[in-house]
Amino acid sequence: MTDSAASPEATGPKPFGIFFADATELLALPAGATPTLTRVDPETATVSVFDLGLIRGDGIFEATTVWKGTPLAWGLHLTRLQKSAQMAELEIPPTEALVALTDEVLAQMGEVEYAQLKLMITRGADDSLSAAPKDAPLSIIAMVDCGKEPREPEIEIVTLDREVNKDSAQKAPWLLLGAKTLSYATNMAAKREYERRGAQNAVFITLDGYVMEGPQSTVVLREGGRVVTPHPSIGILHGTTQQELFAWAELTGLETAYEEITKDRLFTADQVWMMGASSVQSVRAIDGKPITHDIDTAIEISEFMKTEREAIDAWTAARAIGAPEEGVPVQGAHV
Ligand code: PLP
Repeated sequence: MTDSAASPEATGPKPFGIFFADATELLALPAGATPTLTRVDPETATVSVFDLGLIRGDGIFEATTVWKGTPLAWGLHLTRLQKSAQMAELEIPPTEALVALTDEVLAQMGEVEYAQLKLMITRGADDSLSAAPKDAPLSIIAMVDCGKEPREPEIEIVTLDREVNKDSAQKAPWLLLGAKTLSYATNMAAKREYERRGAQNAVFITLDGYVMEGPQSTVVLREGGRVVTPHPSIGILHGTTQQELFAWAELTGLETAYEEITKDRLFTADQVWMMGASSVQSVRAIDGKPITHDIDTAIEISEFMKTEREAIDAWTAARAIGAPEEGVPVQGAHV
């Protein structure tokens, strides 16, 4: 692949890589070894009809932006992948092996200026089906899409009910709230609903009136000198972009906190941001009501996530974040 083929300005179809890894090898990959990958043609790539990822959405995944060859916040993504695996009771390769895997994927892609990287791990074949292969291990698939459009920097959102309460994640752990599983049918239904309502994103609200997350985004509010986001214990993903936004906020002199956030605060905040895959969107209206917003800061933060890698990595390493501790009392007067 040439430079220009992978750059966003180039015309024509952009490179798309699909790679299958060998799960048995990855589960026991020696330190420093390069994993074996099978690169397949996107036109003919197939997964088994017995695969539990296909049949039941039984698997987990992570996705991020690759910028100038670096998968942004990949360490945080892999920390969350391990947490999802634990919740879904899936034995997956250790993080070092998954880093070796994605390093090799990107090496085989050549020079990537901008792309979306997705890593999916399914439970493998459903051996309850009589014709399915027995003991078929996990399926591990990486995809690199150099042609995906970036998220828009300014959007309108709607609020959508989610039939859980703020403590459902603790009361019903089998719902896997907070795990990034391949079961995204509900998230995609919510996307179709916000599009029908003329919006570009949505925020789920619990039955008892608390802000959760978007179908593919975390929500963060700025209220004066404070930047706040719902505590992951409410049953949402702990956003990697949100963690990096907290790095930006603290380096800028703003205070940060995980809180329980009631729906009304969305409308009174100085700024509502939606975010995912290291890209931040400024919200200009919610449920048709305009709110104060500032597109320039959203663009500035997205740029910060690409260009200030050293500062961000130092900040996240110093705090050893990846998940706020369970049971930490949430801060703020609105709890
Ligand atoms: N919440 C959900 C349900 C998501 O699918 C995503 C993915 O983009 C996010 C939040 C944001 O996560 P991240 O910032 O780690 O990409």
